[in-house]
Amino acid sequence: MQKFKTESKKLLDLMINSIYTNQEIFLRELISNASDAEDKLYFKSLTDQDIQIGKGDLSIRVAFDKEARTITVSDNGIGMDAEELEKNLGTIAHSDSFEFKAAQKQGEDKPANSDEEEVEVEERVQGDVDIIGQFGVGFYSCFMVASHVRVVTKRYGSDQAFAWESDGVEGYTISPAQKEGHGTDVILTIKPNTDADNLDRYLSEYGLKDLIKRYSNYVRYPVVMNCSHQRQLPKPEDAGDDYTPEWEEYFEDETVNSMIPIWKRRKSEVTDEEYNEFYKSQFHDFADPQRVISVHAEGAISYDVLLFIPSRPPYDLYSRDFKRGLELYSSNVLIMDKCEELLPDYFGFVRGIVDSQDLTLNISRETLQHNSQLRAIAKKVEKKIVAELEKMLKNEREEYEKFFENFGRSIKYGIYMSYGTNKDELGKLLMFHSAKENKMVTLDEYIEAMPEEQDAIYYAAGESRGRLANMPIVTTVLERGRDVLLCTQDVDEFCFQTMMDFHEKQLKNVAGADLGLESEADKTAAEQVAKDNEALFDAMKEALGESVTKVAVSTRLSGVPSCITAEGPISLEMEKAFAMMPEAENMKSQRVLELNTDHPVFEVMKAAQDAGDSEKVARYARMLYNQALLVEGMPIEDPVEFAKDITDLMR
Ligand code: ADP
Repeated sequence: MQKFKTESKKLLDLMINSIYTNQEIFLRELISNASDAEDKLYFKSLTDQDIQIGKGDLSIRVAFDKEARTITVSDNGIGMDAEELEKNLGTIAHSDSFEFKAAQKQGEDKPANSDEEEVEVEERVQGDVDIIGQFGVGFYSCFMVASHVRVVTKRYGSDQAFAWESDGVEGYTISPAQKEGHGTDVILTIKPNTDADNLDRYLSEYGLKDLIKRYSNYVRYPVVMNCSHQRQLPKPEDAGDDYTPEWEEYFEDETVNSMIPIWKRRKSEVTDEEYNEFYKSQFHDFADPQRVISVHAEGAISYDVLLFIPSRPPYDLYSRDFKRGLELYSSNVLIMDKCEELLPDYFGFVRGIVDSQDLTLNISRETLQHNSQLRAIAKKVEKKIVAELEKMLKNEREEYEKFFENFGRSIKYGIYMSYGTNKDELGKLLMFHSAKENKMVTLDEYIEAMPEEQDAIYYAAGESRGRLANMPIVTTVLERGRDVLLCTQDVDEFCFQTMMDFHEKQLKNVAGADLGLESEADKTAAEQVAKDNEALFDAMKEALGESVTKVAVSTRLSGVPSCITAEGPISLEMEKAFAMMPEAENMKSQRVLELNTDHPVFEVMKAAQDAGDSEKVARYARMLYNQALLVEGMPIEDPVEFAKDITDLMR
């Protein structure tokens, strides 16, 4: 018996037990090798007139025998002679495929500068070969599931077949063998089941098909299995009325993989139907996607990207369990099914695929060695999504509004979570309901429609649009010719607060202090009223105690006697949102009770103060404060006292 060339049992042991986190990839590796072997023979046929082989003649076959506990992966590719067997399977970490690929690449003119930006191309010129192997270790992954491996192979053009056999770390043997036709059979004897590990699952049609579909669905050659089917036997002539149909099992070859990587095709060549079907089956959605985005880029790293914007949010989008990410393929073979790095959080709802044959994969081919490659692709993906959304906003308003209704919240979170650093790129995608226009508008549209003297973007935040539209402060701002954006999502205000401004226009909550709407004359008049009624204001503040930080003259109210506004960074709406978060429930706003001193109620207050009826002043102060809270949709602190105040008044 020959020892492995690395002469290190440890290395193979490491290979088998430590490199892979995911045992089931063994089949992916064997099928990838088979595909490489087909590719090599096909490539040879292109340059050698004597080889009459077309792509259609090449296929990969997977079979299993439950009793014998074997799985066989066969190809009719290039095969290996004894020397190649020795070199390829006797040397751990020797990859003939890698050398083959390197030789291929030498001929291609790739940009020498790796920093060079990739260029988007209409269509990737599909190479004739698409070699997958690169490390020379994939093959050994089969020892994770197999106790014995036999490889029977015959080099194309040779008469002699050879068998390579090994039980793992001890070494291997190579001996002459019998085999019809060229190519390779890899026969795994699957280890017995253990309590912890159900290996029997690989010895079933379902189990194998599942692995093929998941990892090797887009391998370019058909992966065929002889699959079991049922059919009804013909009814015998003499069957009576009580005849129950009989069924028989029969076997038929089936191509399990779909082969055509749809993301490599030019968008104009793929029908909407094809995209829709692909999306639904690949990403398990019942509905067609709203948008399909495809990118083909060539440069230091070439890649194909196919993205889908779902037409409705996944039910768990905002739950902690939601995992974002794109499927990452390298040369049509699945490497990772949710690669987070490829998508920013706020586009987490986007589904899709990235495929690149230039990725330097980690040796287990489960992750990448260089995240900079991923970052470069992720940057492009993000740019492309933003560009596509802008295009939709510009050309298909209704569609965009639908999109925004589904996923606007994610974008707002994105701005908030990144402390507003991306507000310029993402801010232009935002939409809010305009109180003036009674429709959704973008911030740019709001700014466009502003009167010249207006220098801020006004918004109101609350539970429902109807309620907001009727809020006294909102109507006052509207009356002064300013539009107000009505924000009803809890994230809205947080988003605006982190943005602070958009295109140099400050974002102002109409319920915040200092709206900048008052004229100087208004301000002076208000100061005078406050001075004249200092004692009343003090008495009211005292009656309200800690509930408010001050009682002040309002310059923004008409029609109603009072309202509550908030000083400082926390608004009343934010206080409501904080109240739901255990870690922030003590975050309170600084409330100000604003009085409309032109309202008849103010006269009543004044009269009570002048009459020295401090009890009445206190009661009315509480009532004004409580009703303003109700208008705001805030709970009143002491409903019993409020009811009592009203009852006393009515008596
Ligand atoms: P890699 O695929 O990364 O090169 P492997 O350990 O899987 O590494 O395989 C090592 C080498 O063995 C391959 O490069 C290839 O030359 C050879 N090989 C493996 N499987 C086959 C096969 N089915 N047909 C022909 N050659 C094969």
